[in-house]
Amino acid sequence: MPIDATQPYDNQNIFAKILRGEIPSKAVYEDDYAYAFHDINPQAPTHILVIPRGAYVSWDDFSARASDAEIAGFIRAVGHIARENGLVAPGYRLLANAGINAHQEVPHLHVHIFAGRPLGPMLA
Ligand code: C5P
Repeated sequence: MPIDATQPYDNQNIFAKILRGEIPSKAVYEDDYAYAFHDINPQAPTHILVIPRGAYVSWDDFSARASDAEIAGFIRAVGHIARENGLVAPGYRLLANAGINAHQEVPHLHVHIFAGRPLGPMLA
């Protein structure tokens, strides 16, 4: 079910539990600002989710409330993951669903990284 991204942060959401180690995940990368893991239901040969360590529902919540250090750290982490996993030359796609119309399902900001095959034109 898509979530209303204007809701307050729910610290029982599944990615909060993953961050706290209460639910297992296959880690790809972690630092002070970001945690990345393989999507449990991959839509491409490489499908990584990158989440901020802070409690933010969506991209707009993050961009409004996070510190400059958190924002810079998170964006740098996404780029680092792309480089370290050899995704830059073949190419990759970033996607962040926000709210009901975008079908965001988990109310903790996550950026999808898709790669490993031609991804076709972007869907609107
Ligand atoms: O952008 P959206 O909120 O729709 O994406 C949620 C993503 O989280 C899905 O791709 C789903 O497979 C993934 N997921 C996961 N591990 C979980 C629950 C959801 O990787 N335990």
